[in-house]
Amino acid sequence: MAPKKNKKKKLSKKPTVKAKKTAPKASKPIMIVKAPRKKVRVDPAFQPLLEKLQHRRNEITGQVNHLEQDLREEIADNQNIPGDMADHGSGELSQHLSVTLMENDRIELERIEKAISRIESGIYGTCEVCEKAIPMTRLKAIPWATRCISCQSRVESA
Ligand SMILES: [Zn+2]
Repeated sequence: MAPKKNKKKKLSKKPTVKAKKTAPKASKPIMIVKAPRKKVRVDPAFQPLLEKLQHRRNEITGQVNHLEQDLREEIADNQNIPGDMADHGSGELSQHLSVTLMENDRIELERIEKAISRIESGIYGTCEVCEKAIPMTRLKAIPWATRCISCQSRVESA
């Protein structure tokens, strides 16, 4: 007795009668559909902030790339120096500084990216805790703020 498989039968592969191919007399022109650019409606009030954020983002990415390159060169340099001759102290310190700087840049970059996507998805400027509008003055000072002042201070004092 052949054991019945519990698995559901796959859809029969039997070639079903294909829908009659009606040869189109005039072949449809191939439409080149341009991938529609995601249209984001940026609140005009936030437009200057968006530009500022994008500008800062470019600045940081440029800076980080530059730093990373410096760092890589420095590491390569250090590797060429025999251990006891290398000035470990200063080398390590400047590496540490670079890494710290990059780390800070990364954090800022993340905040900026987040802010930009919040602007684009239309939730920018709203406190993520109490959902009240974050005052424009605050946004201008801290464009990546995601909380209103009172929620932020509550978080910070917690
Ligand atoms: Zn709030």
